[in-house]
Amino acid sequence: MSLSILVTGGAGYIGSHTVLQLLLGGYKVVVVDSLENSSQISLERVREFAQDHAPKLSFHQFDLRDRPALEKLFASEEFDAVIHFAGLKAVGESVQKPLMYYDNNIIGLIALLEAMAAHGCKKLVFSSSATVYGWPKVVPCNEESPICALNPYGSTKLFGEEMCRDVYKSDSTWKIILLRYFNPVGAHPSGAIGDDPRGIPNNLMPFVQQVAVGRRPALTIYGTDYGTKDGTGVRDYIHVVDLADGHIAALNKLSDPSFGCKVYNLGTGKGTSVLEMVAAFEKASGMKIPLVMAGRRPGDAEVVYASTERAERELNWKAKYGIDEMCRDQWNWASKNPYGYEPCVSTD
Ligand code: NAD
Ligand code: UDP
Repeated sequence: MSLSILVTGGAGYIGSHTVLQLLLGGYKVVVVDSLENSSQISLERVREFAQDHAPKLSFHQFDLRDRPALEKLFASEEFDAVIHFAGLKAVGESVQKPLMYYDNNIIGLIALLEAMAAHGCKKLVFSSSATVYGWPKVVPCNEESPICALNPYGSTKLFGEEMCRDVYKSDSTWKIILLRYFNPVGAHPSGAIGDDPRGIPNNLMPFVQQVAVGRRPALTIYGTDYGTKDGTGVRDYIHVVDLADGHIAALNKLSDPSFGCKVYNLGTGKGTSVLEMVAAFEKASGMKIPLVMAGRRPGDAEVVYASTERAERELNWKAKYGIDEMCRDQWNWASKNPYGYEPCVSTD
């Protein structure tokens, strides 16, 4: 019998890649997504690619805060574990609309934890973020490094982690993994699924890709005076397929009877500057990315990259891909889907 996994936010960028890896790994997958930041076409593409495994995927469109809908789902199906991606993720928007972020990310998590507890499903993988390391004094960041929040989005991740730790403290039959993702980029090598953010992208690579396909005139580089090799910010970019595989490793860990609640970084351990990333993308795509040099973006850290030791040792997981593959797959997705999944409703 295959294990049944509830994936919240499974139509989104990281969710859709994880759903595909789960199906290919023999899991049964139930997705709940409101589609407020995604398209159902991502799941149709996942189904096409999953071939014989496709019948093991089902989809329910509702908001996690819709408690009657969540209750009905838990009453009708048994889940072995939940992977919780659903939430809002735009840092700038969270500063403009903090309550919308607290409402979605915090109330959504509470509704989920309550439904899980009520139905005796106590295995959870929670999407946290390297944003909780703020501007780290020491790199690489390991799981014991100090954490803080620099904006409301970051606060929801910090509180989300705390809530999970408290739930575990109150009832040690829970098994919870908090995954701190570094910078997910790239797309499935097929080019069928990838990142399709609504509106103006916040993140570097979705912006670069939109410049490459002619949707935006130039990339603005935020900060050229950092104390880094070329003055631009350094991050730990990780291929989204490696990240998706990290969730399978986490699920395996949750089946360990002695496991409790623990945090793991998912990164590569390598720092890459903005200019290095742009150069790698230009090489992979053959496209020239016009640049506009600008001042630092408020709230941005100088250098952030992961210590990957704990995940390697305890989850038996290690990222396989480097930035050349990330950029190759980002371009493959972009060139095949220049306007994302639903070009006719583009919000440009
Ligand atoms: P995404 O926006 O592509 O996916 C999130 C999905 O959740 C979307 O499909 C959206 O429609 C859905 N959703 C949002 N609120 C919902 C709700 N209340 N009920 C049901 N569905 C809801 O984002 P992503 O990049 O795939 O990120 C997934 C998770 O990983 C998020 O929690 C995000 O904060 C976290 N994360 C992302 C990054 C990143 O750079 N992409 C980095 C660190 C952490
Ligand atoms: N960045 C940039 N221009 C952009 C978007 C991002 O120069 O249009 C830089 C940003 O300052 C940071 C790096 O790219 O140094 C990664 O930014 P992103 O928002 O993707 O990730 P985060 O800062 O959240 O780690």
